Amino acid sequence: MTIDHSATGRENDTGPLDLAGIGVGPFNLSLAAVLDGLPGVSARFFERKPVFSWHPGLMLPGSVLQTSFLKDLVTPLMPTSPHSFTNFLVAKKRFYDFASGRFGGVSRAEFSEYLAWAAERIASVEMGAQIEEVTLGKGGFHLRRADGEQVTARNLSLGTGMRPHVPASAAPHLGDRCFHASEFVLRAPRVAGRRVAVVGGGQTGAEIVLHLLGLGDGPAHVSWINRRPRFAPLEEGAFVDQVFTPAYVAAYRSLPAAAQRAETADLKLASDGLTPSTIEALYTELYRRTHLGDQPDSFALLPGRSMTRMMPGAAGFRLSLWAEAAAREEQLEADLVILATGAEPFVPACLDPIRERLEIDATGRLKLDETYRAAWDGPEGHNIFALNHGGASHGIVDPQLSLMAWRSGVIANTLVRRPQFDVSAGPSLVDWAGGQPGASAEMALRMAG
Ligand SMILES: Cc1cc2nc3c(=O)[nH]c(=O)nc-3n(C[C@H](O)[C@H](O)[C@H](O)COP(=O)(O)OP(=O)(O)OC[C@H]3O[C@@H](n4cnc5c(N)ncnc54)[C@H](O)[C@@H]3O)c2cc1C
Repeated sequence: MTIDHSATGRENDTGPLDLAGIGVGPFNLSLAAVLDGLPGVSARFFERKPVFSWHPGLMLPGSVLQTSFLKDLVTPLMPTSPHSFTNFLVAKKRFYDFASGRFGGVSRAEFSEYLAWAAERIASVEMGAQIEEVTLGKGGFHLRRADGEQVTARNLSLGTGMRPHVPASAAPHLGDRCFHASEFVLRAPRVAGRRVAVVGGGQTGAEIVLHLLGLGDGPAHVSWINRRPRFAPLEEGAFVDQVFTPAYVAAYRSLPAAAQRAETADLKLASDGLTPSTIEALYTELYRRTHLGDQPDSFALLPGRSMTRMMPGAAGFRLSLWAEAAAREEQLEADLVILATGAEPFVPACLDPIRERLEIDATGRLKLDETYRAAWDGPEGHNIFALNHGGASHGIVDPQLSLMAWRSGVIANTLVRRPQFDVSAGPSLVDWAGGQPGASAEMALRMAG
């Protein structure tokens, strides 16, 4: 089928849209890219920010994508789409320079530039369009934009991402001297000569610590607090990466809930570990400070510690840390506390009018079916597709970029009620417990039989 990518996506100007997307991060942007130009589908995607940006508060110099650039908005599903990263490189006249670079990873800054480029080109994406309220009425969902425009759509796709997780002990102290890492670059805090505590031992914490230690006029002292017993690397490699495939998702979905939870816990470091290049750079700097420079007392790495309490101190804060292995409490003074404590799923306030009709689990996620439709008691034919709510239902890949294009294909097929895109898993190298037998298992079974 030939797709006309110049279509506006607003063919049904007189009636309800087929789909309204709330929030344009990478996930709804992928869906917008996949639906772009699909005949007979009317969709609009609304983003509150005036200009596209991807986690701008964490866009630290040198930060690198943890995912292959081939897993862009569209390529795994429709490699001939004009909204691919490769087409971005060609359009920007940097294809050959990029290819010559043989980069181990793409910088997050460049991937963000690609996403912004795509958002600009896709006519159904509208920036500066905050959705304030969603109610149910004639024709389906009624969306009220902050500028007063009302939009009606038969289906919704919720792409509002996750919200920063702030530990209860830090919540009363939020402000200029204690804030979530997602605001770090935007706040550009004054750190020179101060004692900074970074709470959280994941990749975000690592990137901030590395950044602080690299500043010419940096902090007097940096403490890095990590609840985990070690500063653990990303678990990666060809076999680990097999979990970021449709075949794994299918197998995962067939497991009982308890086995799914065990899988997710077991795979924690496949998504939450530290990027090897960050570890190397950090370790090199810490070695230099300790053995080759004159700053051995300028940092503290504190694994196996949980922050349990924060109190205002003489100049900043006094933090109580629980050291699990030693079963004792420790105290730490800091002028500035940066919370690299992750993000959590949530249902945004604009859905308050229909919140009670949604099934929301204890973690704040919408309960999803196989095709990413949220369970709710609304009228037949009106679906709420939820992106980034499938951590429990679809596994650890759900909050990642890896399968976003494939997921967009699954949603698009459900929306148009035909197999518009081939989203079948194909042969798998690994025969996952609970999954469809792959080529190797089929062969073994045939030989046995
Ligand atoms: C720093 C960082 C780096 C990451 N790097 C990787 C990586 O390398 N590889 C990987 O696989 N994953 C990575 N991830 C995880 C994941 O890919 C990202 O979090 C991704 O941005 C999730 O996309 P999203 O579309 O769900 O949400 P978001 O990107 O958070 O976008 C949600 C959007 O919704 C908008 N919005 C919210 N409410 C409204 C409203 N009422 N009306 C209109 N708009 C609204 C927001 O303004 C926002 O732009 C990273 C995450 C972070 C935080």
